[in-house]
Amino acid sequence: MAQRMLRFVTVEQRRPEKRRVAERRRDFREIYREFDPAEAEVQAARCSQCGIPYCQIHCPLGNNIPDWLMLTAQGRMEEAYEVVSATNSFPEICGRICPQDRLCEGNCVIEKGYEAVTIGAVEKYITEAAFASGWVRPIRPPVERPQSVGIVGAGPAGLAAAERLRRRGYRIEVYDRYDRVGGLMVYGIPNFKLEKEVVARRHRLLAEGGVVFHLGFEVGREATLAELRARHAAVLIATGVYRPRDIALPGAGLGNVVQALDYLTASNRKGLGDAVAAFDDGRLNADGKHVVVVGGGDTAMDCVRTAVRQGARSVKCLYRRDRANMPGSQREVSHAEEEGVEFLWLATPEALLGNGAVRAVRALRMRLGVPDSAGRRTPHPIEGSSFRLKADLVIKALGFDPEDLPALFGEPALELTKWGTTKVSWRTLMTSVDGVFAAGDIVRGASLVVWAIRDGRDAADSIHRYIEAKGAGAEARAA
Ligand code: FAD
Ligand code: SF4
Ligand code: SF4
Repeated sequence: MAQRMLRFVTVEQRRPEKRRVAERRRDFREIYREFDPAEAEVQAARCSQCGIPYCQIHCPLGNNIPDWLMLTAQGRMEEAYEVVSATNSFPEICGRICPQDRLCEGNCVIEKGYEAVTIGAVEKYITEAAFASGWVRPIRPPVERPQSVGIVGAGPAGLAAAERLRRRGYRIEVYDRYDRVGGLMVYGIPNFKLEKEVVARRHRLLAEGGVVFHLGFEVGREATLAELRARHAAVLIATGVYRPRDIALPGAGLGNVVQALDYLTASNRKGLGDAVAAFDDGRLNADGKHVVVVGGGDTAMDCVRTAVRQGARSVKCLYRRDRANMPGSQREVSHAEEEGVEFLWLATPEALLGNGAVRAVRALRMRLGVPDSAGRRTPHPIEGSSFRLKADLVIKALGFDPEDLPALFGEPALELTKWGTTKVSWRTLMTSVDGVFAAGDIVRGASLVVWAIRDGRDAADSIHRYIEAKGAGAEARAA
């Protein structure tokens, strides 16, 4: 039944039902169930159809949220899907894993006093309804162009660019060193946030639409950047950031002290049915262990929640700032707390203790001082505040830096920023090498899927303009 809008005054916010803690602690399935159609319509109808929609302004993709909420409230689902997919290449993925509390929903004007419209859940609902109804079809470009574009990296930035360029009729070849498509959406982010079949479904659609994938192909080993550039009319670098940050601590070399991405990749591979020796022999498996995770970002949240599901005896998260100053999503912290994770705010490891393998963490209490240049309050250790935590698995989740791409790709002309990310023109996203563009985490540093999608789409448009301009130039010279 078509709903009137502005129902936030009479209808309370409701998210899709969350599975019971006891049940979700035992498996890796997504924690939210689906909205049913009536619930989705009534929740979408809570929107007040703002003249200046702050939700849209704070969505990195500038999604036309008020329009697709209204169409959903009216049950016009095919049109809602058209609007959703006009600005977002993978709305079902953003609906699941965007930190909406910091983006669209966190800026919904009815938030104060009435709680935000459940934008992410409706976006997922619309797109899942479109898949179920057969409205999401492989790309059939109106024209086939002779030029090809090479894309290095099959994460969200590379895939969004592939989708958008293929729609324009370019021949697209995607190169990835992994054996599956999706980048961190497959090997970083756990299943309980994003089930792998959701990503595999997009892989199949792109392949059916003519995008060619070369998996197990590492640029720098199988081919240099110059070789790829010679093969294609343009190249996009979308390789993400993978060099883990570390802390220099006494005891850092002990056994069972591991990097977060090694741990999460092992868990994701196991879930996908791969043979993972380091999981089976216990090195990357939290089963029966006292686990301490160091860090306060999304990666740390994924580690603690994975450890719970693997059957850890206890899971603690050490973070040197407080809850208000952590980089991770507050919603993820709440999920983790519900699932039994203990957070030790304002605490940092001082030494790892053990004989061969780690047995305990000696930690220090911290206090927050004045804000730094980025506005975040600087943590300082409190003298004499040492305490001990039992630990037989320590997971370091301290963030990631870019690899040295010019060295890796054999391309010294590729310029970097002072942070080691790839330098691009912010207008065109072209690097210092003609015809080579870059997008996603390799440009921004570790960021979000939604920003990678935005960059991939922008880079695709820029690549199209570049190829068109080259073609026009060649025609002018021939005339
Ligand atoms: P990636 O996803 O990293 O993809 C890069 C691809 O390039 C990979 O497939 C890699 O194999 C390939 N590659 C690298 N080098 C080469 C080479 N030399 N040759 C060929 N291929 C190469 N974001 C959110 O929005 N929500 C979340 O909940 C969230 N959770 C996260 C949890 C974890 C544990 C991590 C680590 C990140 C999380 N993020 C989250 C961040 C998000 O995953 C990234 O910002 C996003 O995936 C970046 O996309 P990308 O395409 O730039 O790079
Ligand atoms: Fe919100 Fe992300 Fe969807 Fe934008 S893409 S509307 S930020 S969930
Ligand atoms: Fe609707 Fe909230 Fe966006 Fe306003 S800010 S248009 S109420 S979703």
